[in-house]
Amino acid sequence: MPISNQRNCISWKVGLIEVNRNTMETDFPNVYAIGDITYIPLEMGKPLPKAGVFTHYQAETVAHNIAHKITGKTPDKKFNGDGTMFSLKWETEKQGMLAETFMVLLYLMLK
Ligand SMILES: Cc1cc2nc3c(=O)[nH]c(=O)nc-3n(C[C@H](O)[C@H](O)[C@H](O)COP(=O)(O)OP(=O)(O)OC[C@H]3O[C@@H](n4cnc5c(N)ncnc54)[C@H](O)[C@@H]3O)c2cc1C
Repeated sequence: MPISNQRNCISWKVGLIEVNRNTMETDFPNVYAIGDITYIPLEMGKPLPKAGVFTHYQAETVAHNIAHKITGKTPDKKFNGDGTMFSLKWETEKQGMLAETFMVLLYLMLK
């Protein structure tokens, strides 16, 4: 049976898993989801874009917090949308600056 039929934590908004935007925890305690499968609503109402750089920092956050839980420490790391789109494969400096500006704006909106 699909997990979505058992609990309401799976939002079938385009078939993605809705998670806590800071911890990546689903509504199931100690169950996390990261990366493109997740749906993270931003304050502006739109979802966090899919990007490898976000997946990377989400993984670091979840790994850190799980390690802290296991060792009895407070899981204190939060994902806050940090990341730089450094690998868009855009060739010119101008396009790179545009991508950088986009990511800075996104970062500021998440803060
Ligand atoms: C063309 C393109 C360019 C991109 N460029 C950039 C970029 O420049 N910078 C950037 O930050 N992001 C970029 N991205 C986005 C980035 O690739 C993704 O956000 C990131 O890879 C998501 O990581 P993930 O681990 O969630 O998913 P994925 O990297 O897609 O990993 C999911 C893995 O699960 C496997 N899988 C799927 N189904 C099953 C199954 N049933 N059983 C077992 N395994 C399964 C897949 O084979 C895959 O290996 C780009 C994406 C695309 C498509």
